[in-house]
Amino acid sequence: MTDFDYCVVGGGFAGLTAALRLEQAGRSVAVLEARDRLGGRTFTEMRADGCWIDRGGAWIGPGQDRIHALMNEFGVRSYRQYTDGEAMMVLDGKQHRYTGTIPWTMSPWASMNLGASFAELGHMCKSIPLEAPWEAKKAGKWDQMSLAQWLDRSVWSKPAHDLLETAIAGSYTSAASEVSMLFALYQMASGGGPNFVFGIVGGSQDARPVGGMGAIYGPMAAELGDSIHLSQPVHGIEQDAHGVTVYTRGATLRARRVIVAVPLAIAGQIRYEPMLPVDRSLLHQRVPSGSIIKISVLYDEPFWRRDGLSGQSAAPGSPATITIDACTDTGRPGILCVISEGPVARQLGRLDAAERRTAILRELVTRFGDRAGSPVDFVEQDWSAERYSGGGMLSHTPTGVLTQFGHALREPCGRVHWAGTESSAVMCGWVDGAVRSGERAASEVQQHQLAAV
Ligand SMILES: Cc1cc2nc3c(=O)[nH]c(=O)nc-3n(C[C@H](O)[C@H](O)[C@H](O)COP(=O)(O)OP(=O)(O)OC[C@H]3O[C@@H](n4cnc5c(N)ncnc54)[C@H](O)[C@@H]3O)c2cc1C
Repeated sequence: MTDFDYCVVGGGFAGLTAALRLEQAGRSVAVLEARDRLGGRTFTEMRADGCWIDRGGAWIGPGQDRIHALMNEFGVRSYRQYTDGEAMMVLDGKQHRYTGTIPWTMSPWASMNLGASFAELGHMCKSIPLEAPWEAKKAGKWDQMSLAQWLDRSVWSKPAHDLLETAIAGSYTSAASEVSMLFALYQMASGGGPNFVFGIVGGSQDARPVGGMGAIYGPMAAELGDSIHLSQPVHGIEQDAHGVTVYTRGATLRARRVIVAVPLAIAGQIRYEPMLPVDRSLLHQRVPSGSIIKISVLYDEPFWRRDGLSGQSAAPGSPATITIDACTDTGRPGILCVISEGPVARQLGRLDAAERRTAILRELVTRFGDRAGSPVDFVEQDWSAERYSGGGMLSHTPTGVLTQFGHALREPCGRVHWAGTESSAVMCGWVDGAVRSGERAASEVQQHQLAAV
């Protein structure tokens, strides 16, 4: 039994940030991480040739001030996402090449409907109070409605409907019928609205850290040093009048307070003694993660650039739902990132590895030509098959959950405090939100501790 000021469960960006800020304030901290690596839903693989691949979260955008602050702290530079050339949209088997946000080669009616729906979403987002979305004037109505219901009611052109469904439900890596409309509006609003969420230039995929996300979490871990304990899945947390006892497979730790920085559905797998308040317990059962397979397809060079393509493509319903150029700052080798999301990702996940590769490469050849069929490597990461993530990119709330249980998202339960991107009112779901939640939780535990003495 070892004593610490604070214990942090989870070594993703939220947990690492909380621990870092506490240590910088002179507190003793133990970070307990279940996996044998740090980073959580970010995972930078360094390859033998010096190239790196982000197998999870990768992009950053303007307004994500807290991740930028961490990058400044550790001297990590960023580089702009490659966007030269045309993007591609595949609708009902027809390829549309375009620049800008909307493929105007769709029928005028579809383009108009898409533009108007986009504007309406932006307008709705403006009415969401970020700290308490359940208090929005129309919260009750929107939380009873799934994203699918809103799309069916509001977007009448089929191509526009399919595109918006792919874009929005795709963000939650779930079917539109699984996601509350209130949650969708809140999550988009937390990033500043749909233009930021779906945009590349000036949006959420504007840039990437040089060296990948690992170039940030690596130095954070180095500063935390011996405070980090890998391969320590926490299975129990007990609290009493004086502190908390945290149980892992191999150790028992004692601390004044604990910050739990794991995805909500995973937090529900920990045994809490005494039992958590009912609303928090039920919240854990009601916030699922979506399904996403992120594939990095490597080529000698980014050949699509020479063909006048940006590498960005979207094809609703296809196993390669989205592609984007994911080269490092040097532009060599060529890396095409393929994202398979939601129900399609679940289907793809049921195939064996060879069948998956064939299905994805076949799609890439139809979009980028024969060279796409002969990669030098094919690296896939199925986040639903990750025990300690339970899916990705982020968790969402189904209908009726945010209005009834949202208030429990950040409320501490005695000496148990909560972090994780899903608990952030700003940039909820992004790495930046995780950092913000870690900083909030670090200051929260210290304030509560001060108030207690
Ligand atoms: C494929 C994919 C692409 C994404 N793309 C982007 C992007 O481009 N930009 C962006 O900003 N965001 C992106 N995201 C989202 C982003 O990665 C997350 O918002 C962020 O990493 C969440 O950080 P977190 O610390 O809140 O949670 P996590 O990263 O999930 O960290 C939780 C940690 O807790 C550990 N843990 C779980 N259970 C236990 C336990 N019982 N005991 C101890 N430890 C435990 C886990 O192993 C993990 O390390 C993406 C996510 C995915 C999966």
